[in-house]
Amino acid sequence: PFDVLVVGGGPAGAAAAIYAARKGIRTGIVAERFGGQVLDTLGIENFISVKETEGPKMVAALEEHVRQYEVDIMNSQKAVALREGAYGLKEVELANGAVLKSKTVILATGARWRDMNVPGEQEYRTKGVTYCPHCDGPLFKGKPVAVIGGGNSGIEAAIDLAGLVDNVTVLEFANTLRADAVLVRKAESMKNIRIIKEAQTTEVVGADGKVKGLTYKDRATDEVHSVDVAGIFVQIGLVPNTEFLKNTIELTPRGEIIVDSHGQTSMKGVFAAGDVTTAPYKQIIVSMGSGATAALGAFDYLIRQ
Ligand code: FAD
Repeated sequence: PFDVLVVGGGPAGAAAAIYAARKGIRTGIVAERFGGQVLDTLGIENFISVKETEGPKMVAALEEHVRQYEVDIMNSQKAVALREGAYGLKEVELANGAVLKSKTVILATGARWRDMNVPGEQEYRTKGVTYCPHCDGPLFKGKPVAVIGGGNSGIEAAIDLAGLVDNVTVLEFANTLRADAVLVRKAESMKNIRIIKEAQTTEVVGADGKVKGLTYKDRATDEVHSVDVAGIFVQIGLVPNTEFLKNTIELTPRGEIIVDSHGQTSMKGVFAAGDVTTAPYKQIIVSMGSGATAALGAFDYLIRQ
């Protein structure tokens, strides 16, 4: 059996595997797609100490770093269940039927952004359609942008972006904003934020490989309108990859794994890190830090057994 089995090969999982392996303990990493969300990222300018890089380049560096150590890497393998096994070992079952056994498990399965599912969205992904204001806000300096979604993340994004871009149009599907009142008041007080409710985004419009605008349907009148924007920030939810953990690990109603300050979950010896957890601010540098924490937490747990 492994001492530490990491499930997930994004920045959190890679950091956890390296920290565990450096303790000289048997470490494995199983990932559906090594690299995770970073593989889908074009430019990265906020990974401290690296002025700029690109997603696939960072993933190659992550893999090279993990391979420096004796880590058993099982790529293209999906975990479908986690349970307590015999002799105090945890069991992780894979989609191919194999069962991996380990004294501790670190869950780092990340999350995925909910898509709008409208024409043009996939085509213009990373060409104007984006999901991360902290990452891509500065790319739209002085230009008009739209934010899709009027929940806390959408209104926070609008307030954040309003200080950088020319103007922000927020499109909310419902007839009220779900964000906290204090955020709504702040957004409404800002002159370059326009909020449109009952607006169903219907298409991302672009030309020459770049976003030019979008169309939306006014759900009260059925009229279709268009807005000229250079960027579209989709903020309609981040979905944690925890479907396979329901009924085994304590999750929030949104499906995030509840962890303590050491990354420990509700199941003894099972830790979690990165975007899949309740930790706020889903960023590469943040998830790597929590991967290190979870590995050290697992090591502390092992030496007390
Ligand atoms: P992920 O990167 O989501 O990795 C999860 C891993 O788990 C993957 O290997 C996945 O295949 C695997 N997995 C999932 N389910 C299973 C399963 N059942 N069995 C086995 N493996 C599984 N952050 C920044 O700091 N700067 C940026 O510029 C930036 N730009 C971004 C741009 C885009 C388009 C996106 C989508 C995100 C961006 N982010 C950025 C956010 C950043 O990518 C995430 O915060 C970070 O990748 C989270 O790391 P993670 O390891 O927790 O999860």
